[in-house]
Amino acid sequence: REPRVRKPEWIRVKAPVSKGFHETRKLMRDLNLNTVCEEAACPNIGECWTKKHATVMILGDVCTRACAFCNVKTGMPRPVDPMEPENLAVAAAKMGLEHIVVTSVDRDDLPDGGASQFVKVIEALRRNTPNTTIEILTPDFRNKSEAAVEAIVTARPDVYNHNLETVPRLYPTIRPGARYYASIRLLEQVKRHDPSIFTKSGIMLGLGEERLEVHQVMDDMRSADIDFMTMGQYLQPTPKHAKVADFVTPKAFDAYAAIARAKGFLLVASSPLTRSSYHAGDDFERLRAA
Ligand code: SF4
Ligand code: SF4
Repeated sequence: REPRVRKPEWIRVKAPVSKGFHETRKLMRDLNLNTVCEEAACPNIGECWTKKHATVMILGDVCTRACAFCNVKTGMPRPVDPMEPENLAVAAAKMGLEHIVVTSVDRDDLPDGGASQFVKVIEALRRNTPNTTIEILTPDFRNKSEAAVEAIVTARPDVYNHNLETVPRLYPTIRPGARYYASIRLLEQVKRHDPSIFTKSGIMLGLGEERLEVHQVMDDMRSADIDFMTMGQYLQPTPKHAKVADFVTPKAFDAYAAIARAKGFLLVASSPLTRSSYHAGDDFERLRAA
């Protein structure tokens, strides 16, 4: 058995022991909601849940794909829960959220890939918490993306997020089953349908990507008019998942952020512990206030 790679000191996480953490967990359990915070074993869960910021994962907790970096269970998902949109809206109202991030597992088994559930969630949130800004983080909907994106964009989320996850060269090992340019095109389509929706995407670093490959991803994203970019350190959730190739230093994350800003992104989040939804609300509010 290979020795585990030691995490550098800048990957520090606080133990989730606060009152806010327990309240968030109880609320999610009571309303039968899943969170990506737990399912993906996110290192920020202590901080985020203390602040009552959670990313809700709709359409169950079982995914039809098996990406090499992801801790979500793979298999045959259960039927869609018709109460989920309303329960999610109740949770958002109880938590008094100014901004909510909603994501899902991939549901390649469903005829619409789960797009209609995203639409119902957005509608339920607008009814119950009209002042909450809504960020959705969707799968690529494989070959159903045209119709899926059209339906979701018509429901008008504030931010449409879809992650590229890594550089194109690493797709066959890290994100098999997905196509890099299909993901770029999906976000381009969102902007074309409704330019008032902010588009967002992110990648993980530390999977073996080269610096120039990261710059190329930034250029590809800007050519699709993507507004926000996130970059964070990949952490191996279990020994069965893809290995960490290297730990990118905080200074290197700052250098990437400077380059991304120079390329014209409106918002850039780049640090070892940045995740797609980390501080998403704070950043978005700052942008709206500016
Ligand atoms: Fe959840 Fe996102 Fe915070 Fe991680 S960064 S705990 S996924 S809200
Ligand atoms: Fe995880 Fe998404 Fe890949 Fe499913 S499609 S395994 S949820 S990253």
